[in-house]
Amino acid sequence: MHLTRRELLHYFGATAATGLIGPGCIGWTREEAIPVDSWHKSVCRFCGSGCETRVGLRGGKVVKVEGLQEGWNRGRLCIKGLLNREILYVSDRAQYPMVRKNGQLERVSWDEALDAAAAGFREAMAQGGPDAVAFYGSGQLFTQESYTANKLFKGGLGTNNVDGNPRLCMASAAFGYKSVFGADEPSGCYDDIEHATLFFVIGANMAECHPVVWERVRDRLRTAPETRVIVVDPRRTPTARDATLHLQIRPGTDVALLNAMAYELLRTGLVDPAFINDFVTFRKGTADAPPLTLEDFRAFLEDYAPEKVANLCGLSSAEIREAARLFGISQAALSFWTMGLNQQTHGVAANRMMMALHLLTGQIGRPGTGPFSLTGQTNAGGGVRDTGSLAHALPAGRLVTKAHDRQDMERLWGLPEGRISPNPGLSAVPLFEAMREGRVRAALVMATNPARSLPNADRYRVGMEKAFLVVSDSIFPTDTAKYADVFLPAAMWAEKEGVLSQSERRYHLVEKLVEPPGEARSDLDILVALGERLGHGALLKARTPEAVWDEWRMVSAGTTYDFSGMTYARLKALPGLIWPCPTEQHPGTCRRYVPGEDPLAKKEGRIDFYARPDGRAVVFLSEQGPFREDLTSDYPMTLTTGRRLEHWHTATLTGRIAQLQGIDIDSLEIHPGDAAVMGVKEGELVQVTSARGSVRLKALPSMRVRPGVVFALMHSTEHLVNAATSDYLDPTSAQPEYKLAAVRVERVKEGT
Ligand code: SF4
Repeated sequence: MHLTRRELLHYFGATAATGLIGPGCIGWTREEAIPVDSWHKSVCRFCGSGCETRVGLRGGKVVKVEGLQEGWNRGRLCIKGLLNREILYVSDRAQYPMVRKNGQLERVSWDEALDAAAAGFREAMAQGGPDAVAFYGSGQLFTQESYTANKLFKGGLGTNNVDGNPRLCMASAAFGYKSVFGADEPSGCYDDIEHATLFFVIGANMAECHPVVWERVRDRLRTAPETRVIVVDPRRTPTARDATLHLQIRPGTDVALLNAMAYELLRTGLVDPAFINDFVTFRKGTADAPPLTLEDFRAFLEDYAPEKVANLCGLSSAEIREAARLFGISQAALSFWTMGLNQQTHGVAANRMMMALHLLTGQIGRPGTGPFSLTGQTNAGGGVRDTGSLAHALPAGRLVTKAHDRQDMERLWGLPEGRISPNPGLSAVPLFEAMREGRVRAALVMATNPARSLPNADRYRVGMEKAFLVVSDSIFPTDTAKYADVFLPAAMWAEKEGVLSQSERRYHLVEKLVEPPGEARSDLDILVALGERLGHGALLKARTPEAVWDEWRMVSAGTTYDFSGMTYARLKALPGLIWPCPTEQHPGTCRRYVPGEDPLAKKEGRIDFYARPDGRAVVFLSEQGPFREDLTSDYPMTLTTGRRLEHWHTATLTGRIAQLQGIDIDSLEIHPGDAAVMGVKEGELVQVTSARGSVRLKALPSMRVRPGVVFALMHSTEHLVNAATSDYLDPTSAQPEYKLAAVRVERVKEGT
């Protein structure tokens, strides 16, 4: 059965009350009369758009989820927002703790499961020291949960082996912001959409992956039709359909394109010399490398003249010049990007160059301007990046390698000096490699499914098999749970309380509204109970969501993330608050670094890049590096991956919704010309093989992809697309290159 999006809409009994059945977005409020006892404010638990919701309860159950009219999303939700209700009641909700006995997971008491988990960790540390254990978390955890895990492992157990799935999606953006502005996270807010005259969308299929933000962009296009849209994407996505100019770029050549645009902006004088003079510095390599000049940058860009890189990028020089012209002449350019830019071995360089275009043109700090990365998961930003729950980081922008930052956290956490290790821990992919090699012997995996989501996944499944694995999830079974020695059932979303963030630095409170199924517990409770058994109960004095939040607020005070004014009472009353927000009277900050708007910007003038020691943002001289995998006669095509509107990540949740079963997630988009050469017809099975592994998918000849490029969704539950994806890492961010793998595609002969 294949459902159209309209048919799907009817399946859910929903009507397009907001009239938003767009090319990629389904937005609505439900109109059928479902009786509701009480309404409660909440937020969607899926993507980083962070749509605000109101949740209807009846008889102790969630019966209705709607978009919050007074929220930034103006009452809209996409289909996944509506599914916030359905996912609570899928049949495979995890209900009981389990321990592996004689090769099988068997139901046990919580005490037995937690004792077994603690014993496994103690044994691993006895054999290999603190760095023999690890935590692998998720942008789906609440902020309080990631913060507590970070504190337990870095402050208690003494290892910085704390990482998670945000490393797979946003690490290159985080490193880009930190190196360019001195602090992570975007500078603007969604209100900027109403002021932009140009949207530059690169490596982001917003109409499907951030559909409600995209609908707000389309509102702007409806009310100000002179607004221009540039979309840079190797696929003709639903987002590209709204583009004034679609650059169907060759995957992995974004740095060359952005450098060529910078070249052209300088050549044509469409830059802001006063802004450059007052607020920008030029450097190569690192943010503290010796400063260079604008003339050095100009000379560096000589190799990136549009006609020199057009062929590499698979574009015409005229297209590149036009993109630069539209960017340069716009009154207010707002750029959006996400995984397409981040998930490549040049991800940090691409992010830096994206930010550079705004710095060269002074397109930042004014309404409607700025570089604005869109977070993949709801709480990858606030929960993981802000709390420093990554292997190199400490809370609120601090770094494990900086003695001052470690001492700061040791003081705040009441630890003896020297307790926090100065060595960065293992990031996501090296962490699972270390499990494979036996260096990491025990790991706690929470709210994520790395056995399916890691690139080159078969390789790292070996590590999961080998290590002592404790898995906490709200669904059982998952691909990762198959490797668990201990499985812990977790509450989800409205069954527990916590804070979620979203792309514009807004924090929302999610209140507990219903009871979790069976014996499931919140991940915060699990972490505290495990911490107790590992002898660190005294460290985890804050044990309720509110107490942990208050501690985290205090840890943020005085930093460039200061949100100490965001009390629980305010978060309960308001549809979220955007940091910086240093006092209880402060309304939150839409535009960071802008004096008069951002309370941390103390200097007078247009902007104050206060997180940088010299007050100047950095434009990096960033080379387009070589491809890690050249196309060869064995592997002549490029595989790129992505997602579609109706499903979420490895489909652990959405894959269990009955009404979504007919949605196709198992096809390989292939250019009709390539399909014809192979003699492959729609629906026929093809095998996609890289140097790492292969996957069989149904061929879908489509003009959406460039010749030579094939596209697969990451959602397939039946086929492991990540058997073939690339685990090459960006050397700075350690983010893997999902967007680019050399493959061959072959028709599968019947019976083979
Ligand atoms: Fe949820 Fe994202 Fe859809 Fe909004 S756009 S409803 S946050 S999945």
